[in-house]
Amino acid sequence: ILAGPVSEALYRRALEAITGGVNSPSRGMEALGGGAPPFIERAEGAYLYDVDGRAYIDYVQAFGALILGHARPEMLRALDEASRRGLLFGACHPGEVQLAERLRQLFPVCEKVRFTASGTEAVMTAVRLARAATGRRVLVKFEGSYHGHFDAVLVGAGSGASTLGLDESAGIPEGIKADVVTLPYNDAPAAERWLEAHGRDAACVLVEPIVGNFGLVEPVPGFLERVARAARAVGALVIFDEVITAFRFRPGPVYVELGVEPDIVTFGKILGGGLPIGGYGARRHIMELVAPAGPVYQDGTWAGHPLSVACALATLDLIGQDAGLYRRLDDLGRALAAGVRDGAARRGVPLVVHQRCGAVSLFFTSEPDVRDFSGVRRTDARAFARFVRAMLRQGILLPPSPYEVWFLSAAHTEREVERTIRAVDAALEAVL
Ligand code: PMP
Repeated sequence: ILAGPVSEALYRRALEAITGGVNSPSRGMEALGGGAPPFIERAEGAYLYDVDGRAYIDYVQAFGALILGHARPEMLRALDEASRRGLLFGACHPGEVQLAERLRQLFPVCEKVRFTASGTEAVMTAVRLARAATGRRVLVKFEGSYHGHFDAVLVGAGSGASTLGLDESAGIPEGIKADVVTLPYNDAPAAERWLEAHGRDAACVLVEPIVGNFGLVEPVPGFLERVARAARAVGALVIFDEVITAFRFRPGPVYVELGVEPDIVTFGKILGGGLPIGGYGARRHIMELVAPAGPVYQDGTWAGHPLSVACALATLDLIGQDAGLYRRLDDLGRALAAGVRDGAARRGVPLVVHQRCGAVSLFFTSEPDVRDFSGVRRTDARAFARFVRAMLRQGILLPPSPYEVWFLSAAHTEREVERTIRAVDAALEAVL
């Protein structure tokens, strides 16, 4: 039993009223052997508090949507001020213009942007846009990469779907599958071979520049450059899905740091500061294809929602004002990764730890080089489950899937990290 009696009771009711008891499968405890998840009553700083009065250091951070910590007073003020002006206008408003202008400065290829209500909608439209711009059908993506929950990207998806063994969702028509090609991540020769042979049908190559959906997996040197070059050589567009990575490693998209530019970029999560947002951008000639300027249709009742936009502007302000933010996250991330590695080495637990800035992921494996989805799949799921359960019992909430990443926030300090490292030590004993 993981959760307290009040959570248990709520979970029983949830199972009756909500399919599977959850509104997003990633929140379920299936990968940990099932049972009730803690039901959260409130959140503050680095902590979540459940309905049973238990506190947890939160490393889920809303699956990467948060970086400033929970309930930050400046964010609450921005939201409060915006809500007093009205919740939703169904009309143009000044904030969306300000936000678009700021994103143009932060994302080098974005001469224009559009906002959506979620990352899924952003990627869905980016793919449609690439198909319209090229007049081609095929979407090329990488094994195990998650890009949202519309039909085409659920083919060969990772993340929450893989946690449940659903590498292919039911209900996707064969015609849609026929237009999706899935290649191994970090294998530039395989991508080059495929693109050279069949690339004339490819509308786009869709890729997370740093994978955040089968653990944290960085591109090997040259991978993104070679894929982008091979795609462009056959006239396919490159879409970087930065829904998780934008603002996670630096105050903007991570591609700026990696030195490779996409043709279209998507973003979401952190930008919304806890409210729903997504969006995409590209150079003018591509963006001008979107309605009403052009023939590619994308709409949305919630697109550019005034409250999401207000929180996004506040998020950009807070990130911009905190010059040491990413350095601090990197220091904490390194300390956490080092503490986990030390603990594993001391106890002889085979464990690989990936870390970049405030993102950390653990792979229970003796293979030293975890660089693609098949490597992540070979990790020990039972060891992972025992470990995460033991952490939860010690008041540390980790994502309940071996495919999800731990995230630090601006509210985490050495104190939380030290406590976590001590808990890891005890949890590794449970693994043995
Ligand atoms: N792309 C990536 C890379 C993601 O990580 C996610 C969400 N985990 C999405 C798209 C979909 O975003 P949303 O959940 O906002 O629809």
